[in-house]
Amino acid sequence: PGRPPRDQDPFYIMFTSGSTGDPKGVVITRGNITAFVEWMLAEHRPAPSEEVILDQTTFSFDVSMMGLLPGLAAGGTMVAITRDDVANPKRMYQALATSDLTTWVSTPSFAHLVLRERGFTAAMLPRLRRFLFCGESLPPETARQLRERFPAAEIWNTYGPTETTVATTSVLVDDACLARYSPLPIGRPMPGTRVVALDPELRPVPDGERGEIVIAGPNVSPGYLHRPDLTQRVFVRFEGQPAYRTGDWGRVVDGLLFFEGRRDNQVKLHGYRIELGDVEAHLCGLPGVQNAVVLPVERGARIESLAAFILFPSRPDEPEFATASRLRAALAEQLPVYMIPSRWRFPESFPTTPNGKVDRQALAGGMAER
Ligand code: AMP
Repeated sequence: PGRPPRDQDPFYIMFTSGSTGDPKGVVITRGNITAFVEWMLAEHRPAPSEEVILDQTTFSFDVSMMGLLPGLAAGGTMVAITRDDVANPKRMYQALATSDLTTWVSTPSFAHLVLRERGFTAAMLPRLRRFLFCGESLPPETARQLRERFPAAEIWNTYGPTETTVATTSVLVDDACLARYSPLPIGRPMPGTRVVALDPELRPVPDGERGEIVIAGPNVSPGYLHRPDLTQRVFVRFEGQPAYRTGDWGRVVDGLLFFEGRRDNQVKLHGYRIELGDVEAHLCGLPGVQNAVVLPVERGARIESLAAFILFPSRPDEPEFATASRLRAALAEQLPVYMIPSRWRFPESFPTTPNGKVDRQALAGGMAER
């Protein structure tokens, strides 16, 4: 109170899953958010006071900021689709049909869900002029269906972690892009920001080769709240600018960046960022559990749910489903619902690799066989 905010002041702190079970608070400053909002306004040129923007993503996930902040800065109107609406498809489509949206902001997973309704077309939303996607891979098939149903609307794929303020790269997915690339590119950096693929010594790899995506510029967070140890590990400097090591693999082809998966055990489930180690740490903390491994259950390129493999020193004297529902309930007191595994297995032992680690691949293979 009593003084105007400065660029280095925190604007929001957003918590993301941490690999050892403690969420990490990502501090985003006013300077960070200013850089992001100015870019969005320059790239999309919203019509002053005319935009109607979808507000569907939970505010604890920074994709929500992509609609909210540039939208309000342009004098636009937010239309909320609530969790209850999403749980009741009839109500959700009614809410969408009366929304008069001009701008769609969501994860690709949400668009995939809404596309189940054949009536979700330009006839339902005649003013819709752009789809902005962020948070996870945009499957070409989702983009293709949207092109067909909304021929006048632009489709943008954007990419970036919470640590670099919502999104940092973007690309317009038009028919030429769809015809040429599968998987789709994640685009080019916003002006003033460098996004590069680096080798382990943080030297740029040649174009066309795979490296870790590092983002440098005014949108890079100062670090994790009260965690200098974690901050030091991934917040570095690159060519004189503050930079963040994303842990994402990437490759530059034709001047466009492509996302090629993670270096670690972080996954995206319906757009939510989850460290598998976070869920495992919480499971290992439950009474009687000796060890736990959590794996993604995949269908094609999409992760559908999580599977938990639990080891007990001695198996509880109850049916497996009773053990599963007891563990699920205990976990639900500690973790958000999207982090709770839906499949449960209770093997006698875990397969191990030659160097004695749990063989996660063998466990995953076993899951496919059942
Ligand atoms: P979050 O901090 O929740 O926004 O998650 C950031 C992570 O999501 C990134 O480091 C990527 O692994 C993934 N991600 C975000 N946007 C995209 C995208 N457009 N395509 C592929 N992966 C993405």
